[in-house]
Amino acid sequence: MSADDPSNDKDEITGDIIWRDGNVPFSPQFGDDFYNPQNGLDEARYVFVDGNNLPGAWQSRENFTIGETGFGTGLNFLAAWDCWQKDPARSKRLHFVSVEKFPLSRDTIARAHHNWPELKQLSHALLDQWPTGTMLPGIHRFELADGAVTLTLLIGDAITCYGDYQGAIDCWFLDGFAPSRNPDMWQPELFKALVAASSQDGATLATFSAARLVHDGLQQAGFTTRKRKGYAYKREMITAHLTPDNRSANLKRFDENPWYAVPKATVGKRIAIIGGGMAGAACAYALAKRGCDVTLFEKAGQLAGGASGNPIGMLEPYFTADLSIPGRFYEAGFRYSQRLVRRLLNVGKIEADFCGVLDLVTEPKDKERHAGMMRRLCDSPELVKVVDRQSASAIFGMPLPDGGLFYPDAGWVNPPSFVTCLVNGITQYTGTEITAITPDSTGKTLYARDGRKFGPFDAVVIAGATETIGFDQTNWLSTYLYPVRGQISYFSDDALRQTYGPQTDIHCVLSHRGYLTPAHKGIHVFGATFERNDDQTDLRDAEHDFNLNQLGKVLPKLATSLDPAVMDGRAGIRTATPDHLPVVGPAPDYAAFLLAYHDIDKGKKGARYIDAPYHKDVYICTGFGARGLIAAPLAAEILASEICDMPLPLEKSLMDALHPARFIVRGLKRRQIIA
Ligand code: SAM
Repeated sequence: MSADDPSNDKDEITGDIIWRDGNVPFSPQFGDDFYNPQNGLDEARYVFVDGNNLPGAWQSRENFTIGETGFGTGLNFLAAWDCWQKDPARSKRLHFVSVEKFPLSRDTIARAHHNWPELKQLSHALLDQWPTGTMLPGIHRFELADGAVTLTLLIGDAITCYGDYQGAIDCWFLDGFAPSRNPDMWQPELFKALVAASSQDGATLATFSAARLVHDGLQQAGFTTRKRKGYAYKREMITAHLTPDNRSANLKRFDENPWYAVPKATVGKRIAIIGGGMAGAACAYALAKRGCDVTLFEKAGQLAGGASGNPIGMLEPYFTADLSIPGRFYEAGFRYSQRLVRRLLNVGKIEADFCGVLDLVTEPKDKERHAGMMRRLCDSPELVKVVDRQSASAIFGMPLPDGGLFYPDAGWVNPPSFVTCLVNGITQYTGTEITAITPDSTGKTLYARDGRKFGPFDAVVIAGATETIGFDQTNWLSTYLYPVRGQISYFSDDALRQTYGPQTDIHCVLSHRGYLTPAHKGIHVFGATFERNDDQTDLRDAEHDFNLNQLGKVLPKLATSLDPAVMDGRAGIRTATPDHLPVVGPAPDYAAFLLAYHDIDKGKKGARYIDAPYHKDVYICTGFGARGLIAAPLAAEILASEICDMPLPLEKSLMDALHPARFIVRGLKRRQIIA
C-alpha cells in the first residue's frame, strides 16, 4: 500500500475519506491507500486469495474460516466470497472473521464498491445488512447467502479483539495499512493473538507486506514464512503457515482459565434439545441451520407454554454507560435478535413491530442512567435519541409526564410466533417429559417419564426452565437457578379509546418501571410483576393491582379507568440466576470439577491444572430471566457454534461469564464450596 501526499485538487473529501479518481478511498488518518489504487480487486485476489491457496484449500471441506485484520471497505471479503461462490467444489459454508477499529459508514462502503460492478450482487447483499449508523464496539454477525456465508465482524482494536477471541481460523488475510503507517497494529502481540485466536493446525497466512518486523513477528509467533513476488510494482510479499507444535506453544495463554476451556466439538450431528421455549427453539434453529439433525422435546402439550407464551415481549436494547460484562453481552444479544427478527419479518413469518421503545424518566436516577448512556452513544441517533416531554408524548401518541430516551430500531415481538418460526421443519415431541440422559458407546439415549426412550443422539442441549436441574448431569445447578413469577395484565383498544377518545393510539412501546405496549390484535399488554421463588401460574388480583399502580405513575387517567376485577392477563415463570446472566455452555462434571480444582482458592496459576472435565456432549442453555428475547438467540448461536466447531459470535471473556462452571469456580475461590 503506497502513500502519497493526499492533497490534490481533484480529490474529494467526505468524512474521514479522501476520494481519488472518483471512488478510490485514501485514509488521511493513516496517510495510506485502502488498496492498490489501480486495481484493488486484482490485488486482493493475488495477495490474499491466491496467497492462501484458495480456492483449493476449501475444497471438500464442510466449513472453511478466513480471518482478516482490517475489514475496511470489505473488498477482500467480497473477493473471497466471489471466488468461493464460483467454485463448484467449494466448502459447504464459508466463515469470514474480520476486525475493524474504525468502521466505515454504509455510504462510504457503497461508494468504494462502485468500482467493482462484477461484485454488485454481493455488495448489495452485504450493504442490505450493514447498519445505517454507528457500529458499536463488540461482535457483529451477518448471515449472507441464506446462511451459507457468515461474516463475524469484531469492532475494536485488532490486538485487543483477537486477544479475546477464539475462532477456528483456517487462513489469514493479514491486511491493515502499511506497517510504517500503522505501527500500533503490527506488533508482536498481534501475531501471537492471531495464533491464540484458534488458528487451526496448519493455518496459512498471506500479507501484502514484506517488512522485516512482519516476517520476524510471524516467525516468533510460530509461523513458518516464505516470500513470494508482490503484487504489481511490489517486489515481495509474505505467505506463511502454522505448524501444530508452534500452535500449542502459543495456546498456553488461554491456560489462565482452564476451567472454562471449550471441549472438542462433537463429530456426529444428531442433536436432541430438551425444552420447547424460546431458548430451545433458538437452539433448534441455530443447529438446523448448520445442517444438524435436530429433535426437540417439550413436556407441555405445546411449545412456548412457559414464559415464552406471553402475547407480547419487548425488544428493548440494553445499553449501559460503562462497558460492563452484562452490558456488553446484552448489547450484543439485542443486536443479534434484532437482525434475526428483521430477517423473519422480511419473509413475513413473525408477528413483530419495530415501532420503537420509549425509555421514560420516572425517577431522578433514570436521568443519571440516561446521561451516562448518552456520554457513550451521543453520536448514534439511529440507536438512541434524547426526547423531551413534548416529543416523547408525540412519539408515544398520548401525553406523558416526562421525556427520556427513544430507541427507534426497537419494538415488540409476539414470542409464540417467534418460537413457531424458529422450529419450522424441526422434528418435535410435545407432551414428552425427558427425565434422564444416559450415555453409552453409541451416543446418548433419552428416557421419558412415560417409559419411552429416544436416541441415540450425538449431543444433547438442556434448554428448559427450572426443570433444567432435573438431570444427573445438572442437578448441582439447583443452588443457582431459581424461578421468578411474572404476571402481565391486558386491556383492550376499546378501553383506551373510551378513556382518551376515538382517535387515540399508542404508537410505540413505553418502558418505565414496568412497560406498556401498542395494541396487538386489539389488546395492550402492561406489567409485569417479579415474584422470586414463586413458580405458580394462577392469575392474581393483587398482581393486577400492582401492575395498575405502576401504570398509574405515568398514565394515571388510564390506570384509574381500568377495572382490575374484570382484567385478564397471564402469569409465566422466568428462570433467573444470581448474577443475572444466563447459563450457556458445556455441562461441567461437578464431582470431577471439585476434584480437579479443589485448591484454586490458593491462588495457583491456571496452567497447573487440567482442562475442564465435562459430561461429554451435554450442553446447557437456560437462566434468561426476563431477557429471553434479547439473549436466547445469541446464546443459541454460541452453543451451535461450539457444537459444530465454527467461529464464535462472542468474545472469550463474555463466554466465560456465561459459562455454567462459573458458579463452581467462584464457589471454590471464595471457599463457599468445600471440595
Ligand atoms: N481489507 C480492506 C478492504 O478490503 O477494504 C482494506 C483494509 S485497509 C488497508 C486497513 C484497515 O485496517 C482500515 O479500515 C483501518 O481502519 C483498519 N485498522 C487500522 N488499524 C487497526 C487496528 N489497530 N485494529 C483494527 N483495525 C485497524
